[in-house]
Amino acid sequence: MKKYFCILFTVSAVFLSACNSITDKDQAAPCEAELFAMDTYMKLTAYGENAETAVKQSQKKIEELDRLLSAEQSDSEIYKLNKNRSISPSADTLSLLKKAIEYSEMTGGSFNPTLHPITELWGFTTKKYRVPEKSEIDKLLPYAVTDNVIIYDNSIELKNSETEVDLGGIAKGYTSSKIAEIFIENGVKSGIINLGGNVRTIGTKPDGSEWNVAIENPDPDSSYLGILKTHGKAVITSGGYERNFEQNGKIYHHIIDPSTGYPADNGLVSVTVVTENDTLADALSTALFVMGEEKAVDFWKNSSEAFDIILYTDKDKLIVSEGIRNSFSSDYEIGYVSR
Ligand code: ADP
Ligand code: MG
Repeated sequence: MKKYFCILFTVSAVFLSACNSITDKDQAAPCEAELFAMDTYMKLTAYGENAETAVKQSQKKIEELDRLLSAEQSDSEIYKLNKNRSISPSADTLSLLKKAIEYSEMTGGSFNPTLHPITELWGFTTKKYRVPEKSEIDKLLPYAVTDNVIIYDNSIELKNSETEVDLGGIAKGYTSSKIAEIFIENGVKSGIINLGGNVRTIGTKPDGSEWNVAIENPDPDSSYLGILKTHGKAVITSGGYERNFEQNGKIYHHIIDPSTGYPADNGLVSVTVVTENDTLADALSTALFVMGEEKAVDFWKNSSEAFDIILYTDKDKLIVSEGIRNSFSSDYEIGYVSR
């Protein structure tokens, strides 16, 4: 079996690929690429005749989206929007910002793409962490509202000088949806897109069986929270354990409750959302984490969207929705919820 290896260095990412040559039609081994982008490690795996093309196109798309959507890179569209107060956006930025606002409304503001000034106060944007004074938060929080983001056909404007956009809570979901499109356009019927633990499965495994997606345990000394058997879906997790700092014995993490400006602190350790729509899954995993157990379950029960949830509480209990009852297995105590 012929193989090639290549290492490509770019400004934002390092790629390491190992692919079958395209003359290899047995489809037994996948084409794989590992890269670092959007502040996270990513791995793309595709099977099939055009796997190599699909993976290469995906790498390019990730770089492109990282450059558009990052609130911290000084050449990105979102950075420019926050600095210059208006931009003529690319189609990707425009459609994602529209989605972000739609999901903000859908979740009663628990998902809020205008918290950038607040995450900056906490130092999550620079990694120079600190606990801000309440007065600092109270001064900026009134401007963190999507009403201040005005979307025209070909431009986006920020109405108030203190309002800034951050698509960090949804960008990876959007990215995996775009990679899934590229995989499918290239005829890839079997693949895995792993963007820092956020997983999107394409089709089934090459042998037709379901993928086993491990749900990460926030406690690195314990094994997975559980295994989900799934195909063709995004499995996206948000948790306070992913990025945080400790001060005076208290942990402060990067998911902010928009109603207080403080890290959400309501008894949930992580939220996993399972659905075909990656972008929705990313927005909802963040929003449900903010809501806490009771409101998250109510939201799921009352939502007309097709998605499933796995909530992990600080009492070491899992709450799992009925749609994945038979496909999720775990050693933890599980409570099932039905619509
Ligand atoms: P991760 O990016 O670690 O997978 P999330 O998808 O939950 O986790 O996104 C967290 C990021 O979203 C934060 O780093 C911040 O940029 C942004 N954010 C924080 N709180 C919120 C919120 N309530 N709504 C929308 N975005 C948020
Ligand atoms: Mg999210």
